Amino acid sequence: MTTDTTTSPKLSTSLEQGGTRLTASAPTTAITHIGQLVTNDPSLGEGPLGLIQDAAVVFDGDRIAWVGASSKAPATDNAVDAGGRAGLPGFVDSHSHLVFAGDRTAEFNARMSGRPYSAGGIRTTVAATRAATDEALHANVARYLAEALRQGTTTQETKSGYGLTVEDEARALRIAAAHTDEVTFLGAHIVSPDYADDPAGYVDLVTGPMLDACAPHARWVDVFCEKGAFDGDQARAILTAGQAKGLVPRVHANQLGHGPGVQLAVELGAASADHCTHLTSADIDALAHSDTVATLLPGAEFSTRAEWPDARPLIDAGATVALSTDCNPGSSFTSSMPFCIALAVRDMGMTPDEAVWSATEGGARALRRTDVGRITPGARADLALLDAPSHVHLAYRPGVPLVSAVWHKGVLV
Ligand SMILES: [Zn+2]
Repeated sequence: MTTDTTTSPKLSTSLEQGGTRLTASAPTTAITHIGQLVTNDPSLGEGPLGLIQDAAVVFDGDRIAWVGASSKAPATDNAVDAGGRAGLPGFVDSHSHLVFAGDRTAEFNARMSGRPYSAGGIRTTVAATRAATDEALHANVARYLAEALRQGTTTQETKSGYGLTVEDEARALRIAAAHTDEVTFLGAHIVSPDYADDPAGYVDLVTGPMLDACAPHARWVDVFCEKGAFDGDQARAILTAGQAKGLVPRVHANQLGHGPGVQLAVELGAASADHCTHLTSADIDALAHSDTVATLLPGAEFSTRAEWPDARPLIDAGATVALSTDCNPGSSFTSSMPFCIALAVRDMGMTPDEAVWSATEGGARALRRTDVGRITPGARADLALLDAPSHVHLAYRPGVPLVSAVWHKGVLV
């Protein structure tokens, strides 16, 4: 932070009273009279969510400078009265697939109408994505990020995985990286149709030339470890090759059935095991005794009428649970974190408090971030206000667009 000798004296004085001296380097903004604020910082308020009643938050540029009771808020350059609305950190959506083209309405419609449908699933999207221009893919990513932002998502991970050639995967990651810092190489989404008769050859491509082309554009490496996609040995080869290039693993694990994905994720120190719908007690135990976050993606079960993941045994065992959308055109075409919160509370054994924590701080942990997912001094100035008195309304009023204001990096969206 730069030192600015023109610092607002009022702000510095008030902040000093709170025990911290911060120098304001940009215009400061106070959001006051937040009826109930989720901070996710237990040192700031009540319970695991660190709840503060009638709260205020002060932004200094793109950072949070001060959090506390509205009555004690320091003077600032600008002020916004929240009028009693509830506030919470911007959602952290740690799992999505936004670099794609095309549409799979017919497939969804057939599935939900109980009709057989024999189109190509992921391969349909691969063909459309390969055929799309860079401009069309940029426009799609921007559109879905804007859609998510309007619903309160201020941090969004996204993946490649619909290119499946060296050039198309690298292109997807370059496009993703132009829109978000959280970019994941998923060349191992499915075996490329070009290698249908030679899956081992495809793994060699992914761990060799494709990884070389993709690693500079990504932070994470991911594998769909599932029957019909990649087995445990293939997944291990891909994840360890990614690690050797400086990428950190995350794994699509145990979505459709039991398998080695979760254990492999824990063994390799993956940031996250994603889906976790079919878990043994050994899988739950492994997650609970690791730093690997269990990321649950109920949009996928909703959109495929599949069995829900059960958060309760994971939380009770002590595992860290994140909630995310899995936004993709095939199996979960939602960008709505509030919708996922409502599903998690209704059908996955989570309390409203747990679901909101998992959609904010839980997602931040799945991305190994400490600057998002919480409202605390020093964190990024990402805040959502709800047209409701409490964060519980996200589950209590499902499908209602309650997010009424969003600040991202200190800017009102
Ligand atoms: Zn996914």
